[in-house]
Amino acid sequence: MLALSGTGIGRGIAIGCALVLDKSQNEVPQFQIDADRVDREVSRFNEAIATVRRELKHLQSNLPPTAPPETGAFIDVHLLMLDDPLISSQPGWSIQNEKINAEWALKNHADTLVAFFDNISDPYLRTKKDDVAQVVGRIMDVLTEDKERRPNISTLDHTLTDRIIVTRDLSPADTVMLRHRHMTAFVTSFGGPISHTAILARSLGLPAVVGLHGVIDTICDGDQLIVDAATGTVLVAPDDRLLAQFQVLQEQQRKQRQALAKLGKEKSVTLDDEEITLLANIELPEDLDALDGSGAAGIGLYRTEFLFMNRAQPPEEEEQYQAYCQVVKSVRGPVTIRTLDLGADKQVDGGRDEPQAAITPALGLRAIRLCLSEPSLFKPQLRAILRAAVHGDARMMIPMLSSLQELEQSLSLVREVSAELEREGIAFNPNVPIGGMIEVPAAAIAADLFAQKLDFFSIGTNDLIQYTLAIDRVDDSVNYLYDPLHPSVLRLVRTIIQAGSEADIPVSMCGEMAGDPVFTRLLLGLGLRHFSMEPSQLLEIHQQVRHSRLAELPGWAERILACTDSTTLHGLVDQLNVEEYA
Ligand code: PEP
Ligand code: MG
Repeated sequence: MLALSGTGIGRGIAIGCALVLDKSQNEVPQFQIDADRVDREVSRFNEAIATVRRELKHLQSNLPPTAPPETGAFIDVHLLMLDDPLISSQPGWSIQNEKINAEWALKNHADTLVAFFDNISDPYLRTKKDDVAQVVGRIMDVLTEDKERRPNISTLDHTLTDRIIVTRDLSPADTVMLRHRHMTAFVTSFGGPISHTAILARSLGLPAVVGLHGVIDTICDGDQLIVDAATGTVLVAPDDRLLAQFQVLQEQQRKQRQALAKLGKEKSVTLDDEEITLLANIELPEDLDALDGSGAAGIGLYRTEFLFMNRAQPPEEEEQYQAYCQVVKSVRGPVTIRTLDLGADKQVDGGRDEPQAAITPALGLRAIRLCLSEPSLFKPQLRAILRAAVHGDARMMIPMLSSLQELEQSLSLVREVSAELEREGIAFNPNVPIGGMIEVPAAAIAADLFAQKLDFFSIGTNDLIQYTLAIDRVDDSVNYLYDPLHPSVLRLVRTIIQAGSEADIPVSMCGEMAGDPVFTRLLLGLGLRHFSMEPSQLLEIHQQVRHSRLAELPGWAERILACTDSTTLHGLVDQLNVEEYA
């Protein structure tokens, strides 16, 4: 038996079989061939192309009914790529004329194709290089007769159950595809506690352990695993005694969750009868199912960028309108639709290596910056949100604001599309409240100025912590610096709440901090009254709210903020959390 320790994500214990997905990084074999081998090498190459074409077509006609609708289009793109002369015919020419092996010939031409896509300015077309890599990877696997060809997420057998994915890393786009694959947990070599992948793990209700370097070489396919998210532990091939212990623990946790379920029907009020708004974060309309019984009073964050992932083209206005309508119509209470937050680790197809932005992508063309630089991408979304808002209590929220000019530009685009809709005679809601995510320190420090132009604030602590403490949220080597209780973070949170209160606009928090019961009392003490989180966290926060006496908390918050050393500060928060209020 082996015990591995990493960063636990989400909650719970999973027991299952390892399914190792290794994006193989084998060197491509490169050698000259003799003249008498040329014909055989060309046929070997042509057969590999034919095999991959057959495989893709087979996949295309055997898509499970639960596959996301865009999967078919995804495979079409790969079939088209396979027909590109640089992939299907020119390597044959190189084998003949340069007398090189098929893998080498393919690699050379694929590199040319990747460089071509790299130089395209349109970000969507640019991401096609990842499709090239996937198609070429398939051909390489056949050529190198990789008998242990690893599945990737898009081709995973949807009938597998009780599988625990073990892989180097999962992009948010990969993770979202796990929804359809009935996995019970995942374990990765990389990743941090507030990466979008971790957030998705929570939203899927999957326990996960990330940042386990070398795990790919330690765990084999089929190994029995226990994943304990609370402690960040992965037990490989546990003995019967341990297995039995964890099964008991798993059952206890299930009962505790069951006991909390009754809170879903209760009002979330403190012991001194103050009502606290608990809202849910969602990524896709299908997440609405998770809201059943959660007691969510609405949606505090709808991350619309997930609608744009794992597909060749961005969704058009109509498709977006339908998706937003579906959410707005099904939810009782407000629905806060966040405009596109693509960029950094959230690439449309999971690719992470745009050369220009590779150094510090989190500081690059992300979220509102990307949208303002591409009005053709942004305007259809604004129109779709304004139209969907006819059908319910929809609000619009702008992510990653760092300057008032960005806000002005965004508001002016909203006015522009409203005038267009008016002219076109299309129904829309001209009075949609427009709020901003306060998640960049610049906006937090100047929150009073932003408050004059916005209808509400939502504090994005994931990014606020990332940018304040200068720690890339996807870089596990600096995870240890992640600290929501860092005095700078707490001061910024207090500044934002105060600015909102002085301007008389609501302030909510939708970062992961809002869904962690360790911080509930402190945040209440700082004046926060609206919390938004992954649906799986709602009942636990509800319980914490019910056990808190609001009147006592501002004093604690003041003492915690006045602390001059981190150990005392953490100790005070622990004390605050064990305090029993009657
Ligand atoms: C945040 O930054 O806290 C947030 C909620 O947004 P995201 O995690 O999508 O960046
Ligand atoms: Mg954010």
